[in-house]
Amino acid sequence: MRVELLCTGDELVTGLITDTNSPWFEARLFELGVKVERVLLVGDVRPDITQALLEVASRADVALVSGGLGPTMDDFTLECAAAAAGVPVVEDPRALEWIRERYAKRSIPLNPGALRMARVPQGAEVVRNPAGSAPLVIFRLGRCRLFFVPGVPREYRALAEGEVLPRIRAALETDSERVYRAFRLLKTVGLPESQLDARVAPLVPQHPQVVFGFRTHAPENHLKLMATASTQAEADAALAAAEAASRKVLGTTFFGADDEEYAPVVARMLTEAKATLSTAESCTGGLIAQQLTAVPGSSNFFIGGVASYSEKMKMAWLAVPSEVLVRHTAVSPETAIAMADGIRAACGTTYSLSVTGYAGPTGGTPEDPVGTVYCGFAAEGHPTRCERFSFAGDRDRVRLFAASSALEMLRQHLLTGTSVR
Ligand code: ATP
Ligand code: MG
Repeated sequence: MRVELLCTGDELVTGLITDTNSPWFEARLFELGVKVERVLLVGDVRPDITQALLEVASRADVALVSGGLGPTMDDFTLECAAAAAGVPVVEDPRALEWIRERYAKRSIPLNPGALRMARVPQGAEVVRNPAGSAPLVIFRLGRCRLFFVPGVPREYRALAEGEVLPRIRAALETDSERVYRAFRLLKTVGLPESQLDARVAPLVPQHPQVVFGFRTHAPENHLKLMATASTQAEADAALAAAEAASRKVLGTTFFGADDEEYAPVVARMLTEAKATLSTAESCTGGLIAQQLTAVPGSSNFFIGGVASYSEKMKMAWLAVPSEVLVRHTAVSPETAIAMADGIRAACGTTYSLSVTGYAGPTGGTPEDPVGTVYCGFAAEGHPTRCERFSFAGDRDRVRLFAASSALEMLRQHLLTGTSVR
């Protein structure tokens, strides 16, 4: 079944509002294994809407058309549909009755605008709108079934959920060409996109029923797997095989699937290990602490952290020796290690993380230019380690990757029990 979406309205093509209806409907359809093939946005221009309807109908089996069903003069989607089909617009008595009832209930006199909402292309079917006045209009144009719904998200969703999706579901039951899909998102961190692609490339020919897709969600990279088959069981099996093979090549860069998020994963690992954590952050200014404490239940493992931005507070709060700062500067492996040791001693935690670096846009030295970050990791019973990173990009990006890289030192330790990356 080929499905397309057509959204009408000047506000959608002039930057006034963003189309939020379509992503919502796409997700609901995808649960049924149906992928929307195309989404069109068209302004309030009659010939454009008419043309778009004809185009959509020439390709799709089903189309959801939204907007322009209201009482105002810029609402003419149904007139365009009638023009596309070469039929007149007629007043539908049932739609008129629903509008009459709704207006009477709110003591609003019927006006010509309200009556417009009862005018539909000849031959169309109308369905009552539980959330508004303009009805759902179902109209066949060639071999395509068009569903017309209001653009107002509340009404759109009520009608799409209550009336359109059940009809699509029923049509799928008898669709001889129906395909079944299964979907998995595998999330990685610490693996640049090009390397992710290189690791996954050899798997692609071995899994012909699966489409491999890539998505960057800094600092993470995600691998999308979508299996397509003629039965659900076959799609599930194809997905399971591709997922197992992918997870093998992703190794420990993989941290979670689908809705799983990074900080909660680290939080769960710390909780399961009955371990505690403290943080000493300079250039990230508390980002790590923020990310972890955003997770409910973080008091189980997060003992405390400081944003020790100045040298003064690195010495006062973390007991970083002044000789270390003088000799090696605040952005150095020695300082990162002293910061990690200092906060772990102060908080008495199993682990601690530290970050110090040049987030930019100014600062840095010839040896350690902007984007250089040192992350420290202290663990009970292990020598404290430091890693040097160089991140490209603006201040926000450097800070984001710095926080993520420090957390990765911890996660990798928790995964393997050793300090390897
Ligand atoms: P109305 O009775 O409000 O005129 P309508 O069916 O004519 O309903 P539109 O006029 O196109 O719909 O849109 C009404 C409002 O709904 C818009 O101003 C906008 O705020 C919202 N809207 C329309 N389309 C979308 C969309 N695709 N995504 C999100 N919001 C939308
Ligand atoms: Mg309108």
